[in-house]
Amino acid sequence: MKPYVFGPVTWLTAVAQGQPGQRTFYVQAGKDDLMGRFWLEKEQLLALATGIDRLLAALEAKRGIVPVREDASCLNPAPDVPPTAEFKIGQLSLAYDEGQDMVALLLGELDAPDDETAATCWASRAQMRAFSRRIVEVCAAGRPVCPLCSGPVNPEGHICPRSNGHREIQV
Ligand SMILES: [Zn+2]
Repeated sequence: MKPYVFGPVTWLTAVAQGQPGQRTFYVQAGKDDLMGRFWLEKEQLLALATGIDRLLAALEAKRGIVPVREDASCLNPAPDVPPTAEFKIGQLSLAYDEGQDMVALLLGELDAPDDETAATCWASRAQMRAFSRRIVEVCAAGRPVCPLCSGPVNPEGHICPRSNGHREIQV
């Protein structure tokens, strides 16, 4: 299979389907009439958000790379078209192209016979920032988000890692 290349993307978002407790998640990325739907586990999705935040923080700590505000237009509802590419994500990694100042999301297919990248989605740092925030919101859906660590707050409260685990947050 030839790797799909999406981008620079117009749409990049995280979507949850199904009832609470049984939700399934996918990343939607697209541009024009190309649309990718990439299924993954919630833990993979949260790890992706952490990876994006870390990458952006590391880049912006470097000289000459100016921090950007998020560009949330990539979170807008995408046209309801059948996906051009759809698979379950196995390998997942991020890369940065300094010349273009673009971030690449590299996706491998679960159970693929090799480690080849099956799809690459290019997005700006501003889009990635919005995408990361959306991931956290989608994963926490139905539950309030902790103002300190962005983690979900359960009805019984929340032990916040940002306060050394000693403080319980009620929202
Ligand atoms: Zn917290």
